[in-house]
Amino acid sequence: MSERTIAAIATPLGDGGISVIRISGDEAISVADKCFVAYSGKELSELSGYQAAYGKVTDRDGNTLDDAVALVFLAPKSYTGENVVEISVHGGRVITRQILRRVLECGAVLATGGEFTKRAFLNGKLDLTKAESVMGLISARNDAAAKISRGAREGRISRDTENILGKLLETAASLAAFADYPDEDIPNLTQENFSALLDECYAKCEKLISTYDTGRAIREGINCAIVGKPNVGKSTLMNMLCGSDRSIVTDIAGTTRDVVENTVNIGDITLNLADTAGIHSTDDTVEKFGVDKAIEKIENAELLLAVFDNSTPLDDNDKHLLNSIKNKKCIVVLNKTDLYAAFDKKALSDFEIVEISAKNGNGSIELGNAISRICKTEMLSPDDTVLINERQRDCVRRALEAVTAARDALGIGMTLDAVGVCVDDAISALLELTGKRVTNEVCDEIFKRFCVGK
Ligand code: GDP
Repeated sequence: MSERTIAAIATPLGDGGISVIRISGDEAISVADKCFVAYSGKELSELSGYQAAYGKVTDRDGNTLDDAVALVFLAPKSYTGENVVEISVHGGRVITRQILRRVLECGAVLATGGEFTKRAFLNGKLDLTKAESVMGLISARNDAAAKISRGAREGRISRDTENILGKLLETAASLAAFADYPDEDIPNLTQENFSALLDECYAKCEKLISTYDTGRAIREGINCAIVGKPNVGKSTLMNMLCGSDRSIVTDIAGTTRDVVENTVNIGDITLNLADTAGIHSTDDTVEKFGVDKAIEKIENAELLLAVFDNSTPLDDNDKHLLNSIKNKKCIVVLNKTDLYAAFDKKALSDFEIVEISAKNGNGSIELGNAISRICKTEMLSPDDTVLINERQRDCVRRALEAVTAARDALGIGMTLDAVGVCVDDAISALLELTGKRVTNEVCDEIFKRFCVGK
């Protein structure tokens, strides 16, 4: 246990029903007993774990600061694995800060960012991937992101990693036995068995890494550009998706001269939407600037919503757009379906088409479904393991590199010692992933990104 007893406000600062001040450490209960007076007359130190007391927090002169409920957790059965007291008071910046100040006066020190979770990690309550998932859960911006972090919190990354580690340790042990007793006829210690084990580890590491990009797109949002010639209804579509008048809608072609951006949740994914200027040939300098920017957005977007106007015939601008979106992840949106059809739909036959009327909202559900489908979030089942940050990806990448080197070494007939060194590197990288072998510097770096109070 750490010698410092720490305290921090665990809830967001603002007007609210309640605020919680969390205290953790050897002295958590005696610190709380100095400022909390239970109406029952009992000291908190008389309570057993998971018991609460109703009372008040007082200042040094015994004046009441606020009514409060104190909840006691006894080590090791708490979030941090230490003695913990959580004091709930009325929500509000002033009261909450007064109570925290009083708790610090009674002997606690202010926690640093992520210190509660860091202590939980150091006390073996959770491994590093589970600790990181806590931050992922807190910062989740959509259902799918929360689902990924919940999976990691429940130990999916740890389980998959332990599984690969088990195979690597088996390989390392076999290699050592083989090197020590080369002439013995030990079953399963053959070149083929080593290769098979390494192949299995390679495939598992590769699969884990491949989850990272889907996870990143889900967490940070998919960059999605709305493109099309002027007046097809791009801004109206943007407003339909955002549920507000974010873009200016007029029937004057070329109104959106710059890129208008907004972030929206469609189903369980986040889209970073950009409504671009209509792409067409123009001599107007300002408009040309917008068109150039729109072209740049098409190039950088991870998903395109290419809009066409059902009420006007296909023209050269439409053909040009169809040509430039050919090899892109794209949904073709045929807009203004409330109007008489003059557009030849056959021109769109190579694409996934959703018919809508952005003006009256028809087709918005179908468009949402198509976006989810194309972004593959529907493939993300609650059982999927997804790496949730760059550190995790880097650990698995290093493990994959080391496994590749081990396979190569085995393939070209290098000594088994050399193969063993590569396998050890892979093991180290995965032990760093779960935190079983991690330096203090890495550990500090991870937890300092957490908010104070977590
Ligand atoms: P943009 O230049 O592509 O951004 O087009 P706007 O969103 O500014 O729309 C151009 C014109 O088309 C405006 O007058 C809109 O009200 C109209 N419009 C957009 N969507 C629809 C639709 O679904 N049906 C009809 N009838 N008009 C629409």
